[in-house]
Amino acid sequence: MTKTWETIIGLEIHAQLSTDSKIFCGCSTHFGDEPNANTCPVCLGLPGALPVLNRRAVELGARAALALGLQINNRSIFARKNYFYPDLPKGYQISQFDQPFSANGELEIMTAERDEAGHPLEWRPKKITITRLHLEEDAGKNVHEGLPDIDRYSYIDLNRAGTPLAEIVTEPDFRTSWEAYDYVNHVRRALQWVGASEADMEKGNLRCEANVSVRRRGDEKFGTKVELKNLNSVRFMHRAIEFEVERQTGVLEAGGRLQQETRLWDERAAETRVMRSKEEAHDYRYFPEPDLPPLQVSDEFIAEVRDAMPELPEARRKRFMEAYGLSFPDASQLTSERSLADYYEKAAEASGDPRAASNWIRTELLRELDAAGLTAQASTVSPEELGSLVRLINDDKISGKQGKEVLHEMFKSGKTANAVIEERGLVQVSDTGEIDRIIDEVIASNPSQLEQYRAGKEALFGFFVGQVIKASKGKANPKIVNERLKAKLG
Ligand SMILES: [Zn+2]
Repeated sequence: MTKTWETIIGLEIHAQLSTDSKIFCGCSTHFGDEPNANTCPVCLGLPGALPVLNRRAVELGARAALALGLQINNRSIFARKNYFYPDLPKGYQISQFDQPFSANGELEIMTAERDEAGHPLEWRPKKITITRLHLEEDAGKNVHEGLPDIDRYSYIDLNRAGTPLAEIVTEPDFRTSWEAYDYVNHVRRALQWVGASEADMEKGNLRCEANVSVRRRGDEKFGTKVELKNLNSVRFMHRAIEFEVERQTGVLEAGGRLQQETRLWDERAAETRVMRSKEEAHDYRYFPEPDLPPLQVSDEFIAEVRDAMPELPEARRKRFMEAYGLSFPDASQLTSERSLADYYEKAAEASGDPRAASNWIRTELLRELDAAGLTAQASTVSPEELGSLVRLINDDKISGKQGKEVLHEMFKSGKTANAVIEERGLVQVSDTGEIDRIIDEVIASNPSQLEQYRAGKEALFGFFVGQVIKASKGKANPKIVNERLKAKLG
């Protein structure tokens, strides 16, 4: 299929900006409150109520735009997008149309196709053009209860009406579902990183729509596109696109024609279903919002926002690779979240061995954090203490194996590495005199193994190492045991 057909995908993301209050009124954006508790005449759409723009929403929108490489326009216009829906009491949504908040972004993402088991093949950079990022308000929510056709009630909860959104639209630049997958993850991380949005798809504060079409390889013209909705996770989005590409190529290969339509992803049935066709498509009749002045953003404001932003994740990943000698997958993992990257950087410094610190964090510490459901920020082991643990191992005070036990105890009790080592009497024996004494004992009590070894059965070397470590109650430094055994066994 991939030889004959080419997939074309464009994406639209709606991200809820992390403000405390709504975009055009002072109501709280707190999630999970009593239905309609957080409403006022403005977000209820009562006649005569006037919207006032929330400055914080503009600031977070600017952070999002800058984190994604977009240009911020000094002047943008809010517009009314007219349509009727029960959860939209005004009968229109305040959005932006022909003069958006920001536009023309070129974003480099890292992407890879995956093998059958879902493991990435080769990571490569890809440039994505982001057409625009504009600001708008969210609608409310229809809540349905009871059984269909028997005892069905629908309610309207307007707590979400008026929460600020950034809508981020790309050009049709994606050629595979994995590129789309990697892009959404990139955007999600960038928005979280700069504090613009929680960007949690499960909570619904990041929503995604995909425009999917196929064309014969070599064709200039795009095929008929289908808009996919109800993609509630990045995994669902990936599956929905895969299904849709199969479906579309199937229709075309059978000589059929595709309809321009909107389809919903049904995760349980693992298929897309028609929601509405083009004939029912809306004409939104946009016009400038008369109750809001044009949004003016000065260069000084943009510079201020930029200066207050942390180093961006991709820049940080590259720096980790160059400064600390980390591999791409390791550096990517450590920059998957800002608090983890901060943690790593402190631990790397304290340990004096950035690569060892990376290994300890990526394996042992992340296992403990995952099991406890914690982020690096809330770790009971400070990065400085993790650094001193790495130092103790590098200085041969304890073995790597003991280190795992120590870290586990540090995590559980919050004690320092030194305190745990002392309590458990874990100090590694690196004294050659002491190790020689144990080796002599082991050799003396295993004469037949010694004979076989000297006769050429070299595999027995491991047996002697094991016996010495065991006789030392696990405290003998394995490196020194190896050296001394070699010398003694000849
Ligand atoms: Zn309100």
